Amino acid sequence: MRQQLYFSPTLRDIPQGADIPSHQLMLRAGLLRQTASGIYSYLPLGRKVLRKVEQIIREEMDKAGGQEMLMPAIQPAELWEESGRFDDYGPELMRLNDRNDRKFALGPTHEEVITDLVRDEINSYKKLPMNLYQIQTKYRDERRPRFGVLRSREFIMKDAYSFDSDQESLSNSYDSMYEAYTNIFKRCGLDFRAVQADAGAIGGKGGTHEFMVLSDVGEDTIAYSDGSDYAANLEIAALPDIYEKSEPPKNQIELLDTPGMKTIEELTNGLEEYNENLLKSVLFVVDENPVLIICRGDHDINEIKVGNAFDSENVRLADDDYITRILGTEAGFIGPVDISEDVTVMADYAVKSVASGICGANQPNKHFKNVHPDRDLQIERYGDFRFVQEGDAAPDGIGTIQFAKGIEVGHVFKLGTKYSEAMGAVYLDENGRSNPIMMGCYGIGVSRTLAAIIEQHHDENGLVWPKSVAPFDLHLLVLNPKQEDQLNLSETLYESLKQAGYDVLYDDRKERAGVKFKDADLFGLPVRIACGKKAPEGIVEVKARQNGEMEEVHVDNLSTYLS
Ligand code: ATP
Ligand code: MG
Ligand code: MG
Ligand code: MG
Repeated sequence: MRQQLYFSPTLRDIPQGADIPSHQLMLRAGLLRQTASGIYSYLPLGRKVLRKVEQIIREEMDKAGGQEMLMPAIQPAELWEESGRFDDYGPELMRLNDRNDRKFALGPTHEEVITDLVRDEINSYKKLPMNLYQIQTKYRDERRPRFGVLRSREFIMKDAYSFDSDQESLSNSYDSMYEAYTNIFKRCGLDFRAVQADAGAIGGKGGTHEFMVLSDVGEDTIAYSDGSDYAANLEIAALPDIYEKSEPPKNQIELLDTPGMKTIEELTNGLEEYNENLLKSVLFVVDENPVLIICRGDHDINEIKVGNAFDSENVRLADDDYITRILGTEAGFIGPVDISEDVTVMADYAVKSVASGICGANQPNKHFKNVHPDRDLQIERYGDFRFVQEGDAAPDGIGTIQFAKGIEVGHVFKLGTKYSEAMGAVYLDENGRSNPIMMGCYGIGVSRTLAAIIEQHHDENGLVWPKSVAPFDLHLLVLNPKQEDQLNLSETLYESLKQAGYDVLYDDRKERAGVKFKDADLFGLPVRIACGKKAPEGIVEVKARQNGEMEEVHVDNLSTYLS
């Protein structure tokens, strides 16, 4: 590709509003431009890297037996009503109406559409197991889109769905996806960890893991053991039954009985500064009142606000001990709730959860007893717990706990029969009996993975692509195109390198050598070949971006040198 006509506008300075290296570099190197808040255009260079990541994903998914397909981004509301998620999903779901006023949603995920598909087509055990996947654009109206494509409102996801006849078969499917994900992120050159995760609002019983890229800009905190394989998202990393109980400071929780619903803006109004995206809340029920406990910034559990979920006035600062003492009271654990949701939703969730007995079900329930389902807002005592802290002995007893920040690039999830039961996706077994299909879902944020790769692969001069995802193999520079020797040699080289199968970006612009070197560092292609003063002798300068090593090489030896 000749750079002169290549659409890769670069920026010298750090663009405003770009707070983290990957966002800055994607803008500066011309991979990306913002079209609207949380909505981006990928320029040719960005698109090329995305394709590389997609290709790695495709190869590993296919190897694991996945079959690629493509579902619509636009989804009829009826399907979401069937699963119950049209209301439950909340404001993150982008909704729209057609000209006949029929309701639709822009897919944030595809459980409903795929369950609808298979319920009509897979009716026999002979068709199971099956794994279907797609790479496609997803829509989530994130409360606070930020960090470029790390958290955007339109993004590219690989989502896969597995269909099995029983739990054991589901476990096999899950394990093979876990392995595929491990291969994918390794091939992308990422330093990552698979961590035990919160089963969250998507529901379903059984295992779930998040794949976390270790990075300071990560919005999650992971607790891992330096001595064993234990690793968990801090939001579920709890230690049971180790805290001494003290008398509950009842008078410290003044619960108001005015059930006025508050929005998150109202609730957080007047609070000190906090990092909203990292803000998580935990809802408890104390004396029949949902109590909101807000863990502030960076999941810093030493600085926690406590209050009545229904009333912003009554939100106060509390320390870790205070929370622990509250946990010693008659409190029902509802679980971490994303405070990016409207508080109305949260309060509603609290009440519904208690009433239906699901609280704890999507939590590490071995630590918590569920609240009785059959009585309205009846609270049962549960065991003590606290979140792990750095230096604790790991829950598996091996090694000590360390914390690290992580970017969630992938998520594997055993759904069980949540969707197949709700939507009637059944198969007939060997004995002709009808059973709900066991499902699993497996997501990878393709665009987020791209940003995560950059977070781990850059230096002060620009991008440093791992070979596996680099947009081009080689960057060929003609330092002074006005010199005929240089131009002739580089033109010949450009053709022969392409012939030899390399994907070459050829900087044939009429720019100064300094500009070209700077841009080459910014683009970060693995190998730079500069054709300069020694062109008459047939000598070029070859530089490895990774370690900066430079060497003069005669063009006759170039192919051996590159291989
Ligand atoms: P997060 O906790 O970061 O909001 P999530 O748990 O809501 O992510 P999943 O529903 O598990 O996301 O979706 C699968 C994958 O899609 C995630 O692991 C992540 O890599 C990616 N993803 C989710 N939301 C976004 C987003 N707003 N922008 C980019 N990628 C995203
Ligand atoms: Mg999310
Ligand atoms: Mg998540
Ligand atoms: Mg997730």
